[in-house]
Amino acid sequence: MKKIGVLTSGGDSPGMNAAVRAVVRKGIYHNVEVHGIYGGYAGLMNGNIQKLELGSVGDIIHRGGTFLQSARSEEFKTREGQQKGIQQLKKHGIDGLVVIGGDGSYMGAKALTEQGFPCVGVPGTIDNDISGTEFTIGFDTALNTVIDAIDKIRDTASSHERTFIIEVMGRNAGDIALWSGLAGGAETILIPEEKHDIKDIALRLKKGQERGKKHSIIIVAEGVMSGYEVGRIIKEETDFDTRVTVLGHVQRGGSPTVKDRVLASRLGARAVELLLEGKGGRAVGIEKNEMVDYDIIEALGKPHNLDMNLYKLSKELSI
Ligand code: ATP
Repeated sequence: MKKIGVLTSGGDSPGMNAAVRAVVRKGIYHNVEVHGIYGGYAGLMNGNIQKLELGSVGDIIHRGGTFLQSARSEEFKTREGQQKGIQQLKKHGIDGLVVIGGDGSYMGAKALTEQGFPCVGVPGTIDNDISGTEFTIGFDTALNTVIDAIDKIRDTASSHERTFIIEVMGRNAGDIALWSGLAGGAETILIPEEKHDIKDIALRLKKGQERGKKHSIIIVAEGVMSGYEVGRIIKEETDFDTRVTVLGHVQRGGSPTVKDRVLASRLGARAVELLLEGKGGRAVGIEKNEMVDYDIIEALGKPHNLDMNLYKLSKELSI
């Protein structure tokens, strides 16, 4: 393999730049040309492709977002769109592709591989919702953003007798809610993997107040219900003073943490190694601090498992 491509796709996440840097530098280290595809799969179909040099990825390791830009493309979900992409790759003499993104992006990489173009997937999403890896690039940075917000809200919460509800990202996966809730000492964590009875939670809050508890923090993943809805039900059931904060896209931004930069560097470099070993159709990940790789189809087929022991612990510690 003499020329490889790299693209970022789906929602951006802090650390994607560090991953692109690793792909470029690792490729050049092995005398392979690396081409950047700008604007995800949409950019691929349009041939928005440029050769990247060592210096092209200088000064980006600390930046959030992705300098390659990301996009969502419906057209790329069709076989015609995918063929367009393959033609562009062939036109530029590229013979392997690293795709950094979430499970939707993996679907694209799987489709290209099935049509004879080798791709390797790198898990880049703040949601931590990809199977085949314990952690995704951007998750740790997002958690640190959320914990910063929780700590600040806790300061004001302890000055007033209020119930604070903080809505965090996570449509299908409760990882952000669980990890930040545990680290932030939240009284209640609402995750999409479990069924929740808000009225029951309100009852518990009342009991807490009777025991002298002055304030509470509830973390809700957006996939459960909106923070405002949780706030409305709790207000109705308890008449407590409730305040809702929806963190939204601040969770996507910011300079990546050390953990995310190191993870991105390791995963990006491993993806290049796999392509050079002739192993397309793989997805890289980290397990027990070791680099692992899976058949990308297998990685897509397996459900993402939230750490339920951690959830149990969070419940035990928030009595
Ligand atoms: P995030 O987890 O941040 O949402 P993602 O990678 O899952 O990231 P998606 O929007 O689901 O984000 O997917 C990104 C892009 O991947 C889509 O816009 C589309 O171009 C491509 N893609 C998604 N699903 C498929 C599919 N079934 N076949 C081919 N390409 C796909």
